[in-house]
Amino acid sequence: MSKEKNILPRVGAHKSITNGIDKAVDRGLESTCECLQIFTRPPRRWEAGKYSLDKIRVKNFLDKAENAKYFDTAIHMPYLPNLSSPEDGLYNRSIKVLQEEIVKSHLLHSPYVISHLGSPIKESRDFAVKRTAKALDQALESRIAPTMILLENSTTKRRDWGKNIEDIANVINAVNEPQYVGMCFDTAHAFASGYEISSPEILHEVFDSIDELVGKNKVRVIHLNDSKGQLNSGIDHHEHIGRGNIGIDCFRELMQHPRFNNISMILETPKDEKIDDKKNLDLLRSLRKK
Ligand SMILES: [Zn+2]
Ligand SMILES: [Zn+2]
Repeated sequence: MSKEKNILPRVGAHKSITNGIDKAVDRGLESTCECLQIFTRPPRRWEAGKYSLDKIRVKNFLDKAENAKYFDTAIHMPYLPNLSSPEDGLYNRSIKVLQEEIVKSHLLHSPYVISHLGSPIKESRDFAVKRTAKALDQALESRIAPTMILLENSTTKRRDWGKNIEDIANVINAVNEPQYVGMCFDTAHAFASGYEISSPEILHEVFDSIDELVGKNKVRVIHLNDSKGQLNSGIDHHEHIGRGNIGIDCFRELMQHPRFNNISMILETPKDEKIDDKKNLDLLRSLRKK
């Protein structure tokens, strides 16, 4: 893999921190990852603060990450926080978790914390934009490093908020320091939300509109997932690369077109016996060669 390391874009995967945060780097290397995404705590439990990081593990993580050349590890927020919640208790707890993840990103030398937009329940889109922007402002006030919060497009049948590029653009345009907020583009979520990126032409149109609405160089991470759900189905079900309804053409374009070169590409494909991360990464690397 040594020679190929210099070929862009870099491809990696989400890895587990079970038995210590530094183990994520070991798992990344085992799967031939060139970049990494992690949760810093169990993603479906609250108990904020309980999972603060052990100093020795952090040092091991930093040493291993440096050896592996993982300089832009992305931290994904746990799933329970909701930055657009109309309920004050949940909202404030969510901001606290985001603040904690920003502190951890500083400790782990990670430039990005990725968050979904959450759900405003029955409140309006306008409410959601203001509420989320205010949460980001509060979280960024306490930052001690130039971490960027990346807002990820999501998909669900239950609601529209958070699916569209416009929602992310509106939040970024409403925060006090937009230079610290960017975007993470998830291919499976986009497709299940109605963006027909199986066609490379439409993929470019979507990124043109991101450039226009969100801004240039705002997408720092792409989640590379094929989709079990159909176009516009709202079904968030990830599939191995080239095996779902998006298909290989989209991923070939992402691997080959220079506009995507500097974006970290992270797999969140199923962990099953059939195809592991290494196989998906080998496929992506084969597409990277023209
Ligand atoms: Zn996500
Ligand atoms: Zn994702």
